[in-house]
Amino acid sequence: MPERRQINDEYAKIAKDLIDTEDVLEHIRTSQATIVILSSDMKKMKDGRKVCGLCERIDEKYKWGLPADFTITIYEPNVRGFTEEQMRILLFHELLHIKIDYQDGEEKYSTNPHDIEDFRYIIDRFGSHWDEVTGEEPMIFRASVTINLDDQIRQNLDHLNERKSDFDE
Ligand SMILES: [Zn+2]
Repeated sequence: MPERRQINDEYAKIAKDLIDTEDVLEHIRTSQATIVILSSDMKKMKDGRKVCGLCERIDEKYKWGLPADFTITIYEPNVRGFTEEQMRILLFHELLHIKIDYQDGEEKYSTNPHDIEDFRYIIDRFGSHWDEVTGEEPMIFRASVTINLDDQIRQNLDHLNERKSDFDE
């Protein structure tokens, strides 16, 4: 089965709220960067550990098909049972990967590595066990719908293009 990723507007709302309110994300708030939040159905593993999320910079050569500067992908099977607060911390963690530098007045995008296994900022603020699933009040994720892959890609692209024109106005 190929991996499927879909745009997740619920996560986008949480991410926007974080960008609007958290001081350490001010560089994103004041930039032109477009960030798209995706849900994946993949059980991604790395070095024997579950990967909850991934922040990627989109290379110029792919922007014809994915008009975004960054994507944040949440691996749904690996975050099952997360509460809304844990999802918020995960999105916060992923947003901390976004790096924006200025060169001759132009924005340059890249991604930050962690300073430790997590970001020290996240651990200092939320503790190192923030991602443990306790079974209390898990967030209800939207049930994934079965959809033809081509239709899904078309829908994602339509959605992104709508978003892009909203953004340009
Ligand atoms: Zn990370």
